[in-house]
Amino acid sequence: MIPNMNYRNLKESYLFYNIAQKTNTYLEAHPGTHLYRMGIGDVSLPLCDAVIQKLHEAVEDQAHKTTFHGYMPECGDMELRRTIAAYYHKRGVNISNEEVFVSSGASDELGDILDLFGKEKTVLIMEPAYPAYVDANVIAGNTVIHIPAGEENGFVPDPDPGIAADVIYICSPNNPTGAVFSRTALQAWVDYANKMNAVILFDAAYEAFIEEDEIPHSIFEIPEARTCAIEICSLSKTAGFTGTRCGYTVIPKELSRGGMNLNQMWVRNRTTKTNGVSYIIQKGAVAVFTEEGQRQIRHGIEIYKKNGACLMEALDRLGIWYCGGKNAPYIWMKCPNGMGSWEFFDYLLNEIQVVGTPGEGFGACGEGYFRFSTFGSPEDTKEAARRLELLLQK
Ligand code: PLP
Repeated sequence: MIPNMNYRNLKESYLFYNIAQKTNTYLEAHPGTHLYRMGIGDVSLPLCDAVIQKLHEAVEDQAHKTTFHGYMPECGDMELRRTIAAYYHKRGVNISNEEVFVSSGASDELGDILDLFGKEKTVLIMEPAYPAYVDANVIAGNTVIHIPAGEENGFVPDPDPGIAADVIYICSPNNPTGAVFSRTALQAWVDYANKMNAVILFDAAYEAFIEEDEIPHSIFEIPEARTCAIEICSLSKTAGFTGTRCGYTVIPKELSRGGMNLNQMWVRNRTTKTNGVSYIIQKGAVAVFTEEGQRQIRHGIEIYKKNGACLMEALDRLGIWYCGGKNAPYIWMKCPNGMGSWEFFDYLLNEIQVVGTPGEGFGACGEGYFRFSTFGSPEDTKEAARRLELLLQK
């Protein structure tokens, strides 16, 4: 038996391993020191009360013969699918319940969805990027074309009509840069995808952080996206579901390639490969979209946004270039004095005990940049921003 040899083509990911090594070495040399961890991609606030209450009720349902639920529908409980479709309608996006698929989170979907495309596809990945995009495609044996982004385009690259692709990844608001695609920028990618017969995988994991009215939350706000796009979303960052696990994927019924309908193909895929997301978790997810749930999760997002504001104010006073922060829980700053991203990592760790994420870990064009996450505690973020400002003023 020869296994999937594509695994040999995966590059070792040293990013989080190296960060852990360096911080552990520092702590061994300086026992008891408090580190200000501004690198984490996980949330720090607990689930909101509305969700917790529903989860408790759903657990109780499972204790009684009359309310017990066994297998759930593979594509998602209709109540949750309807609720999510209604969430889109509120923003003027018409999707039907059958176009919403409930998932266990965006990471799972970003890997699984490649089943729709078959073998040996060419995929465009705009970098710096969430590392799982590249790795999932390497495992699938696809050819990855890396599209570098930079300050010159605000980390929002335009399509190049000279490059052909089957699949295009767009992440807006972006991890790691926090940059967002405007309506015009997204329209250009939608037009390109329709012309090339390609499919856009739109990662909207951070849509709830958008605060500027004119920035699209969904690719389906763009005309003609229904014939070329799939949207993958998650409750992880929106509602603190990183450990609870629930997300959703939207595949329009108009999306067809090679005479095959991708919505129908995904129904077939789900009914073959999953037995659905747990009843309890889906009940909790419905609570996220109620009026009270929305009010409560907004409160959590506001706390993260205040963290972002605190870091951005420090960078503004220092006159350092950055993007993100406003519509995203990430701030992407240029390392000062031409420092490399690992050099800057060491400098912050050793001088002010602040830990961030070196930009180089998200693709070669991330070298010279640094990511701060706003998911930490307000106290730590405030102190990290104060220390950063003092250090870089020198
Ligand atoms: N997409 C992006 C851009 C992310 O940053 C993350 C998590 O950090 C995910 C997807 C994965 O989210 P989930 O927790 O739903 O798997």
